[in-house]
Amino acid sequence: MSAMAPVSPRAILASLALAVVAGLALTPETRWLGLAPHAALETIGGLFLDALFVLVVPLVFSALVSGIAGIGTGDGLGRLGLRTVAYYLASGTVAVFIALGAVNLVQPGLSGGAPVGDSLGLDAETAQVGQSLRAEGDEAWSLLDRLIPENIFAAASEGQLLGLIVFALVFGLAIGRLGEGAATLRTFWDESFAVMMRVTGWVLRLTPIGVFALVAMTVAETGVEAFASLAVFFATVVGALLLHGLVVLPLALWWTTGVDPRRHLRNLAPVLLTAFSTASSSGTLPLTLNRVEQGAGVSNRTSSVVLPLGATVNMDGTALYECAAVLFIAQAYGLDLGLAEQALVVVMALATSIGVAGVPAASLVAITLILTSLGLPLEGVGLLLAVDRLLDMTRTAVNVFSDATGAVILARWEGERPYSDGKAPAETGAGA
Ligand code: ASP
Repeated sequence: MSAMAPVSPRAILASLALAVVAGLALTPETRWLGLAPHAALETIGGLFLDALFVLVVPLVFSALVSGIAGIGTGDGLGRLGLRTVAYYLASGTVAVFIALGAVNLVQPGLSGGAPVGDSLGLDAETAQVGQSLRAEGDEAWSLLDRLIPENIFAAASEGQLLGLIVFALVFGLAIGRLGEGAATLRTFWDESFAVMMRVTGWVLRLTPIGVFALVAMTVAETGVEAFASLAVFFATVVGALLLHGLVVLPLALWWTTGVDPRRHLRNLAPVLLTAFSTASSSGTLPLTLNRVEQGAGVSNRTSSVVLPLGATVNMDGTALYECAAVLFIAQAYGLDLGLAEQALVVVMALATSIGVAGVPAASLVAITLILTSLGLPLEGVGLLLAVDRLLDMTRTAVNVFSDATGAVILARWEGERPYSDGKAPAETGAGA
């Protein structure tokens, strides 16, 4: 049943490999044909990201309205919502606990028993120590505030997906309740969604070019030396992310649905590679929707609720990273965090990851917030910068994988049969 992916994982892998070679060959002085390649790559990468982002609002809105209106009265929607939130909470909690275990076990902030910061000339005494000025509550309230936007167009233009999702849910629900009274509107949104999926397929064909530009830029800018002092931290986070993404989530999928995780991973390969290359869950959302509906056969009803919401609030990789990064910074500055403080880090990492936007480097703001709340040195964030982009790419792939895995698990709980051959793909009929 799996409809052809609009872009082959092999093509993306090949451009990733080429991008690494090109990125390493690039120096600021390099010029090709009189052009500064950095500027060319930046423009091409930027164009690709823009082409993805421009899809997000119309795609998410039409997917949700058509998915929800199709449920008719909306019965069962509350159940799907509750199950979705339960999945998000459970998967995020496991992720932060993996980070907690990994950082305590490996102690990446210590080198030969001494804080890494000593060798880097860092000193907690002279560092500006954050005061608990910002109550953690602020974040929770601002999240609540974003649920109901004052102006739907402003929310759309600012990329405030949460408000848009809530509005689309209510709008779709009203169309469903009106039944025949809103039949034209229902067809309109069904067709709009099919059109957006078609356009998405076209944009996604450009993925190998976009990936090349974005990754070559990243490699050229990051350089190799920056990694040396942070190698252990880097490896700890990547190991923890892989444990969550390649062991915990696949096992959860297999255990709850009986779906072969290898098949799921194969179907999602282009999605994961795109998430990795763009470091943006929101930007990857069009492709995630495409593969979960057309590759896994999850209904539009389920995927249109679980995936956009997931790309906005379900961030397993981000929660894991935030927790690991804060604990690492404390270790690197030689600050001992007790059990209660570590528990606070766990809770705050989980809570703030919900508010982190699905765009590159968004976690850094949340990490600053946690450091401030705990009175830890804010300068610690600077330590992360050298390795942040590559870790961002990896954690984004985990964020997206958790959303897609959740969609398949929830579809099964809703009585659907994802990945069952012979069943017609979801009702959109929107090939690339
Ligand atoms: N880049 C991540 C995402 O888009 C968010 C983050 O952790 O910075 O999912």
